[in-house]
Amino acid sequence: MAARRSNQGSHDAHFLLFPDSDMVCICAVQVFCQPPAIFPARSPALILLCQQKCRHFHCLAALFTFFLLAAILLPARPAGAVVWSTLFTAQDVREHLSTEQGRQEALEFCRKMGITKVYIESFRDGYQAEEATLKAARDYFRQAGLTVSGCVTTTGLGKPSSGWQVAACYTHRQNQERLESVFRFTAALFDEIMIDDFFFTDCACSECAAAKGALSWQQYREKLMLQISRERVLGPAHAVNPNAKVIIKFPQWYEQFQERGYVADQEAALFDRIWVGTELRDPASDEWGHKQQYEAYFIYRWLADVGGSKTGGGWFDPFGTTPTLYLDQPLTTILAGAPEVFLFHYGALASSEYHAQAEALAARRVQYEKLSTFVSGWSGIAAYKPVSSDPGEEAYILDEIGMLGIPEAPTAHFPEGARAVILTTQALRDTELVPKLLRLLAAGGTAFISQPLAHRLNGDPRLPAPAPLDLEKNQYLKTVEVGGGKLVVFSDALPHLTHVDGQNRVAQPTLELRESLEELRRKVSDFTVTSLDAPPRVAIYPLGGRVAVVNSTEFPVACRLTGLAGMAHKLNRLYALDGATLASDGATLWLPPHSALVVE
Ligand SMILES: [Zn+2]
Repeated sequence: MAARRSNQGSHDAHFLLFPDSDMVCICAVQVFCQPPAIFPARSPALILLCQQKCRHFHCLAALFTFFLLAAILLPARPAGAVVWSTLFTAQDVREHLSTEQGRQEALEFCRKMGITKVYIESFRDGYQAEEATLKAARDYFRQAGLTVSGCVTTTGLGKPSSGWQVAACYTHRQNQERLESVFRFTAALFDEIMIDDFFFTDCACSECAAAKGALSWQQYREKLMLQISRERVLGPAHAVNPNAKVIIKFPQWYEQFQERGYVADQEAALFDRIWVGTELRDPASDEWGHKQQYEAYFIYRWLADVGGSKTGGGWFDPFGTTPTLYLDQPLTTILAGAPEVFLFHYGALASSEYHAQAEALAARRVQYEKLSTFVSGWSGIAAYKPVSSDPGEEAYILDEIGMLGIPEAPTAHFPEGARAVILTTQALRDTELVPKLLRLLAAGGTAFISQPLAHRLNGDPRLPAPAPLDLEKNQYLKTVEVGGGKLVVFSDALPHLTHVDGQNRVAQPTLELRESLEELRRKVSDFTVTSLDAPPRVAIYPLGGRVAVVNSTEFPVACRLTGLAGMAHKLNRLYALDGATLASDGATLWLPPHSALVVE
């Protein structure tokens, strides 16, 4: 990060996200808050390690082992607390679980991390782990009181996809047969099997082109992956082991599902359970695509809307993170409501390269478990992304809108009967969009419409707008009354205020942009809680009668909440992470970078 701090010459154009001087912090605050405030120094987190429990455990006689494990694992977990799990990849199995000493070290790692469930993988990158080692590891962890499941990663099956080489060509018969044999082998060993998120294809080889016929690539790939799921994964696994539950893990790149054969609703119906990739990266990273922290929340809630009670948990890894950025992942995954948090993977987290990330999480684990007890009743303005929808030029814009402090309730279904909805280009997947929108407007509803979608709706005779929906040059917000309701068209420039550039900077909004953002938030506050003075990249999560606020900027923030209609004017602090506090006025939230506060 140090290399990114040097660009001091552009204060007037940008906020540095890693400011070297207080001046930048004050400057940042002055833009959004009146009057400027003095912030407490970031205080180190109070850490309560649970390792003492584990040490006691090792000292007790075997007679008491069962009772102690029961005490730790079963009734002691408070309501809402999470299960922590990890994966031993097929390569981890070979390198770390083939000896008694290796298994002991792995178990010690699990104890330290609070991990009570492990996934032992049988296949990855063309390598199938040895049956004897898989069985020995499975039985060892079970005897130690952990829950044990299997995992398969469908990479290296044989003929690769002509597109992304890690994926396979699923038209190719030998690949299909190899896949089936891997699932037969795994289902004989485990009652639950996770599939890592490489179970897709973007292959356009001559075999696929011939098999596709007159279908579009999207149609063919979706049909192919559903067929392979039934005939080469679920069918064989259930034939070998009728108790086997198979979980499909969806990747965090949800805006590309429709290109690669992931069909979330039909796969959620087909598989026994689903899992959610909640991986976050350095938002400044060109390599990782400038990911917004809100993405993990958006995809989790969106897939929970699709998968319902089949939604088992979130999954993230340490790649592309610092320890600080790594911790954004458990924070967001837990805020999104994941009952199980899956830490990919043992071999990486125990390595010198990512050891610091694992240590950082272990130090805060108890705090995250406490946070999970406040998490339920997610709400916000319905943000509509139909399954298999194409984002057009608006990929991941819904993550950016969330990072503006506009709470979203992600959904794959048009929110009939809602008072408000957020609509972007993705909604055009729904061929009944306009009639549905008209019904919402006729009931007096408000639709927040992105600029590109407004452009696409412009001139539609079914939508009798009295004025063009397109924004004029340098116009950032516009309200058009249509059919008894309101269309609020917002410029691209507003969500893009949350974008972190390759030099780790966010653009400094002009006066006009700041005023437009405030006006947009005022309109939002008719429907949900938001903040008029928080800078972009402070996300707000309404949770029943509670509200969580997370500062994902790199400077301290003071802000107030609005839109708490009918709720108490004076807030109560329920939970604070990393030095966040509520001021004595009961209204001003003080949030150091990457901190979180839950108030009611
Ligand atoms: Zn192919």
